[in-house]
Amino acid sequence: MAKHAVTLIEGDGIGPEVTEATRRVLEATRVEFTWDKRDAGMDAAERHGDVLPAETLESIRRHGVGLKGPITTPIGEGFRSVNVGLRQALELYVNLRPGKTIPGVQSAFTDIDLVIVRENMEDTYAGVEFDTGTPEAAQVIASINASSRRQVATDAAITIKMITPGGSRRIVEFAFNYARAHGRKLVTAVHKANIMKFTDGLFLRVAQEVAKEYPDIEFNDRIVDNMCMQLMQKPRDYDVLVMPNLYGDIVSDLVAGMVGGLGVAPSGNIGKDVAVFEPIHGSAPSHAGKNEANPTAMILAGVMMLRHLGEVEAADKVERAVASIIKDGTDVTYDLRADRDPNRAVGTDKMADAIIARL
Ligand code: NAD
Repeated sequence: MAKHAVTLIEGDGIGPEVTEATRRVLEATRVEFTWDKRDAGMDAAERHGDVLPAETLESIRRHGVGLKGPITTPIGEGFRSVNVGLRQALELYVNLRPGKTIPGVQSAFTDIDLVIVRENMEDTYAGVEFDTGTPEAAQVIASINASSRRQVATDAAITIKMITPGGSRRIVEFAFNYARAHGRKLVTAVHKANIMKFTDGLFLRVAQEVAKEYPDIEFNDRIVDNMCMQLMQKPRDYDVLVMPNLYGDIVSDLVAGMVGGLGVAPSGNIGKDVAVFEPIHGSAPSHAGKNEANPTAMILAGVMMLRHLGEVEAADKVERAVASIIKDGTDVTYDLRADRDPNRAVGTDKMADAIIARL
């Protein structure tokens, strides 16, 4: 059996605990790994003078695959998000977020099986921003006002929304290829092209063009606000949803909420030659170091990684073991209990032990 070399970034907050639980579960599948442990985030800044050290990026590039815990981002000041930085540096242009009901997880919805394909590099997340009152903002505003009928207020803060034909094409192609490879029937492009006629209009036009190249997969499109309402009313009418960055961020959290919340939602950041898998939740600092965080989202990120590495049997086995432990409802962390009673819940490590025993 092939031995897989994987860059392991444990992150901070609850990161180290859920990463350790996940590493143990993955090793219990008997798939062989060599873990190349690397730093990112505040700890990396202390040790390497950089929140995203070059050696961490180089390790991921070399191995082609990374497994990552959550990393704290200071709000409003300090460094930019390491998570966004990582996606930009490695050109991980796909954010893949499955939203599938796990029986036993508390949720208002049942039988949800959606896949969100979020564009990860462009849109308002590209980081092209100008703060209010700065000379740079004044220059941008003057240039806009010279060429636009609609005028921008001179004290405005500006974030640029950028959508390119190439960026749109590769994300929509990914969605269709994913649909084909996973027996999915429908791809829905989500946008606001009625208002943002140029940026979202371009995304929609490209999606319509790409759809013609995949006659075996059905295609439709929805305006993002209507999409949110329809997901509440008839989620089973949808299958694979593809969208620009900002809508993807919001809609994928909406879908995560529909299948039981942050504690059970994994994601993959995928580029041409490199992929990094992580839970969608953050570092939950108030739970850090208490052995009480739910490891499920991180373990399911590990399941996505196993599938990516072609270890489909091991992936299915872990997924079944996680589902069966959650369904039993005994060896689970507090957030998965209906009574949320921490005294009757088990810790992160014990939940991992139970999953390993069930393998
Ligand atoms: P969060 O996801 O860390 O926590 C929100 C709440 O959800 C927590 O207080 C907790 O009650 C619950 N929660 C989340 N994960 C849980 C788990 N595994 N088990 C049990 N309960 C869990 O979101 P936040 O508080 O907005 O962010 C905290 C920090 O994490 C911020 O600095 C943020 O920037 C960062 N963050 C990082 C990533 C990432 O690394 N990809 C993603 C999101 C947020």
